[in-house]
Amino acid sequence: MTSLPLIPVAPDAPAARRAAMPPRHLADFDLAGRQALVTELGEPAFRAKQISTHYFGRLVRDPAGMTDLPAATRDRLAGALLPTLLTPVRELACDDGATRKALWRLHDGSLVESVLMGYPDRVTVCISSQAGCGMACPFCATGQAGLTRNLSTAEIVDQAVYLAGVAASGAVAGSPPRLSHVVFMGMGEPLANYSRVIAAIRRLVAPAPEGLGLSQRHITLSTVGLVPAIRRLTSEDLSVTLALSLHAPDDELRDELVPVNQRWKVAEVLDAAWDYAAQTGRRVSIEYAMIKDVNDQPWRADLLGRLLAGKLTHVNLIPLNPTPGSRWDASPKPVEREFVRRLRAAGVSTTVRDTRGREIDGACGQLAAAEDNDTDAPQEAAA
Ligand code: SAH
Repeated sequence: MTSLPLIPVAPDAPAARRAAMPPRHLADFDLAGRQALVTELGEPAFRAKQISTHYFGRLVRDPAGMTDLPAATRDRLAGALLPTLLTPVRELACDDGATRKALWRLHDGSLVESVLMGYPDRVTVCISSQAGCGMACPFCATGQAGLTRNLSTAEIVDQAVYLAGVAASGAVAGSPPRLSHVVFMGMGEPLANYSRVIAAIRRLVAPAPEGLGLSQRHITLSTVGLVPAIRRLTSEDLSVTLALSLHAPDDELRDELVPVNQRWKVAEVLDAAWDYAAQTGRRVSIEYAMIKDVNDQPWRADLLGRLLAGKLTHVNLIPLNPTPGSRWDASPKPVEREFVRRLRAAGVSTTVRDTRGREIDGACGQLAAAEDNDTDAPQEAAA
């Protein structure tokens, strides 16, 4: 018999209820694990494939929609394998519906957010791996409230499946109906929730009905740079795109902007990134928020260019997005242009990221999951 991964179930003690892990869900398991569970529940093993086809193949998350299952079977399997993990609290849209931010309440009351972004040639979802974040980067809204808890594998996967369903319903005008890209750039530090995030990636890339069948190249994992975890990722049989939130080329400044740098320095984290690139053949993205008079000086562009020249990499400059109470501003456009020019002159491929979702606080670093977040003029999205 296949041994099942241990999924913590919410304990009964009231004191432990806060920030507890959710009940198990089919997306926590691979197909063999689901078959073992279904058999334990007294149902034939083929039911595992049947409900997996609904969930991953047809994006049906509600057991009531699985009408080809006998009612008793449906109730039994739904109770054991399809608990409600995400309850939508609010959906906001901007860019004429091409960008949508979803706020979810988890079973223990924790709040997390995901963002769906439609483009002419692809549909991307940005998902959260933790409720809150413990990395404390001072320019990021998520970092300000600290970490509540890790998300389970299924809580991570269910964000993508839910929003894939929204895209499939044709809600994102001018975009293909099929979800094609997933970025782990929502709330949380994915490598601090390592095993659940890796399992979630396996669900995203496994062909239907075991998983969503996305291409590994279309999955991006973004990290502050937890070096041992990057090294562990390098040893997995995966080749997803790695993004490194660098934000400064020198330890003095990076110690402040990305506090985990006090533990793993720029040289160390870049070494780990290049080993990942060598192992997978994939270009590592370097994320760099452009912060006025903080990290945007020409000499820092030159230093960054020297660190990255000749490497398998691409720089994404992110105009700093506003966050509540932040003392920092985005760099002026001419400064940004000069930064790009210097990096390119050093032979480093560089682009400036769009600021999708800014007006609904859905852009990089703005996810803070407050229920009463006031935004300027968002359209409430039709659910
Ligand atoms: N914890 C991971 C995943 C979050 S990804 C990581 O840090 O990589 C979110 C990205 O947006 C990171 O690159 C983060 O540094 C960046 N970011 C955070 N706050 C921002 C802000 N106010 N403006 C622009 N980018 C920001």
